[in-house]
Amino acid sequence: MTEETRRKLFEGQKTVDKVQETEEDVVLNMSLRPHKLTEFVGQKEITDNLKVCITATKQRKEPLEHVLLSGPPGLGKTSLAHIIAHEMGTKITATSGPAIERAGDLIGILTNLEKGDILFIDEIHRLSKVVEEFLYPAMESSQIDFIIDKGQFARTIKFNLKPFTLVGATTRTGLLAAPLRARFGIFYHLDFYQIEELARIIKHSAKILGMKIDDEAAEEIARRARGTPRVANRLLRRIRDYAQVAKIDKVNLEVASKTLDELRIDKAGLDEIDRKALKLMLESFNGGPVGIDSLAASLNEEVDTISDTIEPYLLKAGYIKRTSRGRVATKLAYEHFGIKYAKQEELF
Ligand code: ADP
Repeated sequence: MTEETRRKLFEGQKTVDKVQETEEDVVLNMSLRPHKLTEFVGQKEITDNLKVCITATKQRKEPLEHVLLSGPPGLGKTSLAHIIAHEMGTKITATSGPAIERAGDLIGILTNLEKGDILFIDEIHRLSKVVEEFLYPAMESSQIDFIIDKGQFARTIKFNLKPFTLVGATTRTGLLAAPLRARFGIFYHLDFYQIEELARIIKHSAKILGMKIDDEAAEEIARRARGTPRVANRLLRRIRDYAQVAKIDKVNLEVASKTLDELRIDKAGLDEIDRKALKLMLESFNGGPVGIDSLAASLNEEVDTISDTIEPYLLKAGYIKRTSRGRVATKLAYEHFGIKYAKQEELF
């Protein structure tokens, strides 16, 4: 590939952006989204349990209990919410915590729901307190309380809603108020995916994208996808761009590895931000402990980006540990950069 082509292909993507997606990515993501429970790869305990809940509820002709989905971004929470609606044979209305600014915004949405419909609220931990409290009676007894008039004429009017199912998604259950958490009957935590599961997702996505790819190449992408289907699909799309420009008919291991190297995803699957964060911990903070705020400030990143996206994978992959005094780099992190590890792990 010429330097010019390389620059065009990878411009702006030197660090595979984990948070923002381009418009094309969003559209493609929708087409790659699984629609049925049987198409949802991995998370077997969750899908098995969900199948039983859905079958039983449908037999009783009742709406499904409220469902709370938690886990890092890109693991399939939104996909599962859509799948639930599909399997229940109901409509889904999707919104997000920050989009509902006032209780009034929610009234319109709630009163438009039919019996058994799904209301999906992404980032539910970011609902304002007022909106959250407004949701409680809606979730519990399908009622909302309106206050009309002001001062001495103020009156509360109860309005009956049709029984619906709230599916909430959050990257951090810890930030959810206890009374809200308690109103969910079904709770699932999504974990990072196995390489073999990601390889299946990649092969399936390649088919939808009209791409030919061999098993070894799919596994290589899976190994470097941070255990995350969204990242796997994004890497696949970049490899598709490369293959198209280079007129390569079938992606093999060599093509996949070369493109991933050019995207600066290393053999362990860490990207530039991961490496920057780890190096900072090792070099500027002597391996830690370091607080998330200092890390975010030094990296010039939002605290939320670190705690929602960067940290969970580095923890899971064993590069860092969380201690009461902050995050510390493990021996694996030192080894990754070929730096001598001189600490005693037991201390942490
Ligand atoms: P989240 O809501 O947790 O951020 P999404 O549901 O938006 O994640 O998933 C991101 C993308 O990853 C989806 O568009 C879909 O293509 C893919 N994906 C996620 N989970 C799975 C899965 N279990 N099987 C197949 N594809 C998946």
